[in-house]
Order: sequence, then structure tokens, then C-alpha cells
Amino acid sequence: MSLPQFKRILLKLSGEVLMGDQPFGIDTDYVAKLAEEVKAAKETGLEICLVIGGGNIFRGMAGAAKGMDRAQADYMGMLATVMNALAMQSALEKIGVETRVQSAVQMDQVCEPVIRRRAERHMEKGRIVIFAAGVGAPYFTTDSGAALRAAEMRCDALFKGTSVDGVYNADPKKDPTATRYETVGFDKVLADNLRVMDASAVALCRDNDIPIVVFSIRERGNLARVLAGEGTQTVVGNVAAA
Ligand code: UDP
Repeated sequence: MSLPQFKRILLKLSGEVLMGDQPFGIDTDYVAKLAEEVKAAKETGLEICLVIGGGNIFRGMAGAAKGMDRAQADYMGMLATVMNALAMQSALEKIGVETRVQSAVQMDQVCEPVIRRRAERHMEKGRIVIFAAGVGAPYFTTDSGAALRAAEMRCDALFKGTSVDGVYNADPKKDPTATRYETVGFDKVLADNLRVMDASAVALCRDNDIPIVVFSIRERGNLARVLAGEGTQTVVGNVAAA
């Protein structure tokens, strides 16, 4: 299906895509490839805000499951997202794409704090702004951070690049009969607990009428294809449930 022409999007990449084929951490060669994808999308004239998760390094829930204090573990997760943001910044700047990292947890020596009007100015100057540390509070995820930044930066859509090519009615890895939705309503996603993003992120997008485009970032060139309306994706929006 063809997507409307977007002026500004928020691209959310889960931390796990930065691992490439490694079981953990950051594969710099793979991050370089992701940066090329982002650059190609930007060269179509699109304004891009970027949010990267931290699941390739640390997830608060995993730490809590092993007995850590949940809030403490979540702060570690937030720090992981800053590391990923810096890795992506480095990869983008190496290929001539100007970026700024803004973190919701202040760390002046490393990056800027989140200041919306300053982020706007960066966008005007053609920079990509990478928002790190989610919403800056424990018990949230970078999906919520992505939804929040998409709303405050007035993005036309939130593109969620992950390792699956859309939203299915069941887990496609476990159920061979699982089918992918072309479009699906926010309310159905929430009611059926479909695995798109966490509920707070979906609700924020619903309330601000920001469609979520779920696609696979693992296939080379797919971001550009999806943006051109030629890729495989699921669009979650304020539409009648499919
Ligand atoms: N996190 C948090 N608050 C936020 C964003 C992230 O506490 O606003 C922590 C949380 O522990 C989370 C981790 O950072 O598990 C990494 O983020 P996330 O799980 O969203 O990464 P992804 O799954 O996208 O790689």
C-alpha cells in the first residue's frame, strides 16, 4: 500500500538491530549499514528524528528478573540507549550526515539535554536529532520515548524498524498460520494486546493521531522502499480494525 507523503518522521530502531548477527552489543559494521539506510531516507528530503533502544546491551526488566532493583536496572537501560545513540551518531557523521544527540538524562560532557526548541533548530539546519534515554524515567521504554518525541516534534508518523516485517495476528515465529495486517486500528492493537509497542506508547500515538509504521529494518534498502510505499509493513492508525 502507498503511504502519504511525510515531511518529518520519527524513526525508532530497537537496540537489537544494532547487534547485526552478534548475540549482544554493537556491531559497528552493521551500524554503518543502518546509517546508510538513514542517510538514503534523509536524502529524499525527509526530516528525521531518531530514537534507538537499548535492548542489545541492557533491559531493566531482565535486570529486575535477576533480583536488581527495577528502577536502578532501568537507569542502566537508559545509559545503554545513550551508548547506542553515540554509536549511531558516529556512524552517521562518518558518512557526512550531521547529527545531534539529546539525552533525557542529562550528561553535559557527552551530549545535549533534550530541549525541544533547540531540537527544532537542529532540524531546520538539516541535522538528524537522536533522542536518547527514552523519557528519562524508569518503568518506561524507548517505545514510549519515541511516541513522546514524535508528538512533541510534531512528526507525521512513527516508523518502527525492527526484525519483523509488520504486525501479525499471532507470533509468526511460533505459529505458521500467523498473518500480517496491512493496516490495523490502535484500539485493536490495544484490545488484542498485539505486539507492536508497549501500551503507553500506542495510546500516546492514538491520542495524538500519529500513525505507527512497523517494518523490518534488517532487509537492505527496506526503509527507502517502505517510505516509497513499495515495502512490506503494517500501518497502525486511527482506522477501522482490519
Ligand atoms: N528505559 C527506561 N525508561 C525509558 C526508556 C528506557 O527505563 O524511558 C530502560 C528500560 O530498562 C529498557 C531499557 O532502557 O528496558 C532499554 O530500552 P528498550 O527496552 O526500550 O530498548 P529496545 O527494546 O527498543 O531495544
